[in-house]
Amino acid sequence: MLCSASPLPSPPAGGTAASDHHARLRAAAARSDLPGALAAFVAMSSSAPASAAGPVLRTFTSLLKLCAARSDLATGRTVHAQLATRGLVAEALAATALANMYAKCRRPGDARRVFDRMPVRDRVAWNALVAGYARNGLAGAAMEMVVRMQEEDGERPDSVTLVSVLPACADAQALGACREVHAFAVRGGFDEFVNVSTAILDVYCKCGAVEVARAVFNQMPVKNSVSWNAMIKGYAENGNSTEALALFKRMVGEGVEVTDVSILAALHACGELGFLDEGRRVHELLVRIGLDSNVSVMNALITMYCKCKRTDLAAQVFDELRYKTRISWNSMILGCTQNGRSDDAVRLFSRMQLENVKPDSFTLVSVIPALADISDPLQARWIHGYSIRLHLDQDVYVLTALIDMYAKCGRVGIARNLFNSARERHVITWNAMIHGYGSHGFGKVAVELFEEMKSTGRVPNETTFLSVLSACSHAGLVDEGRKYFSSMKEDYGLEPGMEHYGTIVDLLGRAGKLDEAWSFIQKMPIDPGISVYGAMLGACKLHKNVELAEESANRIFELGPEEGVYHVLLANIYANASMWKDVARVRTAMEKKGLQKSPGWSIVQLKNEIHTFYSGSTNHQQAKDIYARLAKLIDEIKAVGYVPDTDSIHDVEDDVKAQLLNTHSEKLAIAYGLIRTAPGTTIQIKKNLRVCNDCHNATKLISLVTGREIIMRDIQRFHHFKDGKCSCGDYW
Ligand code: ZN
Ligand code: ZN
Repeated sequence: MLCSASPLPSPPAGGTAASDHHARLRAAAARSDLPGALAAFVAMSSSAPASAAGPVLRTFTSLLKLCAARSDLATGRTVHAQLATRGLVAEALAATALANMYAKCRRPGDARRVFDRMPVRDRVAWNALVAGYARNGLAGAAMEMVVRMQEEDGERPDSVTLVSVLPACADAQALGACREVHAFAVRGGFDEFVNVSTAILDVYCKCGAVEVARAVFNQMPVKNSVSWNAMIKGYAENGNSTEALALFKRMVGEGVEVTDVSILAALHACGELGFLDEGRRVHELLVRIGLDSNVSVMNALITMYCKCKRTDLAAQVFDELRYKTRISWNSMILGCTQNGRSDDAVRLFSRMQLENVKPDSFTLVSVIPALADISDPLQARWIHGYSIRLHLDQDVYVLTALIDMYAKCGRVGIARNLFNSARERHVITWNAMIHGYGSHGFGKVAVELFEEMKSTGRVPNETTFLSVLSACSHAGLVDEGRKYFSSMKEDYGLEPGMEHYGTIVDLLGRAGKLDEAWSFIQKMPIDPGISVYGAMLGACKLHKNVELAEESANRIFELGPEEGVYHVLLANIYANASMWKDVARVRTAMEKKGLQKSPGWSIVQLKNEIHTFYSGSTNHQQAKDIYARLAKLIDEIKAVGYVPDTDSIHDVEDDVKAQLLNTHSEKLAIAYGLIRTAPGTTIQIKKNLRVCNDCHNATKLISLVTGREIIMRDIQRFHHFKDGKCSCGDYW
């Protein structure tokens, strides 16, 4: 008899355990805890008979989703085996999850096998597979599935299919496929879905067809924030900063919600255009909408300010940034380097190390050019060793930066050793080495290396030609220069730019072929710029041709130079020809326009210090000693034939002229270098302008009487002074 008091029948023991395990599994899955989920799953499987209240399909699929997210193929296969023993593989839900898992673990073949065995495949299953392929960069496979779903099962793609497959078209840069999907969407009326049209315009942008994207954008009846973002980003990434910024302003004006995507694009555009005021407005806006806690946005802000040449504002953002990433440091260092603030770049780099942020190759490529600019051989060697310790010295960009740096430090031999040891050479590596030789006046070696480059099958680019042409110019290799200039277009289809023309004018002009240089300018297919006429003017001074100098100078003045250097050059040419009235006229014109000649300075590098001298300055601590040493030097070189070249200073008495020449910054720097270094030490000088005739002459003789080697880097090239001669052969 049944007792009325008997308790309710309890569920089978295994069932309780199974639902416990099930709950644990679901909880673990929700935490993305794969080991936990797997443990729960195994416990559940062993505690319950396979046929009874065992794991239901949904637990399998949540587990498979985890495997997919982690790309954990091994666990995925275990789950697959469990499903197989339970005869559940053909269930649509399970098979779809399995196919998705295999696709995400980059096993398209396995995904296909599971999928092909499904007796019934619905659109959801097809879409899962398409999305799985597309998100894993298997663009071809994704697009193939879209075709197959129609052919094999007669399933029409829907908006989900389209939105899934479109990113795959973008990854494959498959403009044709994108057009097909677009046409299909229009036929099916899917283009009215804002997410479909947005995905289509995004793909057009990523395939470089921005104008087509814009047409899609304009025709969209409804646009959301994502659509605006995609279009603005598309313009920014395709180099149309003006349109990106215009559209961004419209977006803000129309009250569309601005997100980090459009802010990043707008900052990029402001930086590219150098629009500081617009950039500041974007800055204010992003603070208002709370994006100042987004470090990617703040890094972009730093870069924007640097590109607008305001490293001070960039530094302010950088310093106030609480959580700096390595990209923050890299952006700030690169910004300093590119704005000529080499000292700041190096200081930041040291600070980065103090704060234990590990540099990467990008950091090194940003800071090495700053060290190249400072040209301190000790620091150069240090950063080289540091690159080796970071195992980044064979990174081709780092290596190239090191080669360039050593060449700029006057150590062209070390640069060549590095070049020879390179495991990989890009065209930029060759360019750096060729340029290095050229700037030191080793024109022949530069030309040889250029020929070697071509013989190894490397294709030179515009920069290579600029380097080899300027090497020819510095070494007076006129025929080679002419030959390479025509080869540039004829053999390589490269259109010469303003700099190439300027270099040829320089080459011909220095070699005294002034008429040829002039007619070369007349035949230029582009309007000659200041640099081209400037090269001509320099050549006219060298070869004392007043007529062509006036012609060149007039063209320069029409173009409105920002510096007074060309006026000074012309005045000097007149002065050499004793045309005093004209000298006065040019000087007056220069004053009227408020133009100034940048003051000359030189720096001398001692072991751990750098000393800067301005021409005529007396504020150095050891000024007395320096001037005394210089006076003694001048006497010594006069004894071996030095005659001050007072040609270019005309409005003062002779002895004052000589004194003015004697206080040129490079002479002061050399005198100080001689005081501070032991006999026999090489003296290294850097000058911000071209070295003048008199200093060049004096330095040659100083190298003779002191037995010192003096390496001088001026704005154009290097001069190695030794035993009374200079490596430039007096041709600079
Ligand atoms: Zn000088
Ligand atoms: Zn020289």
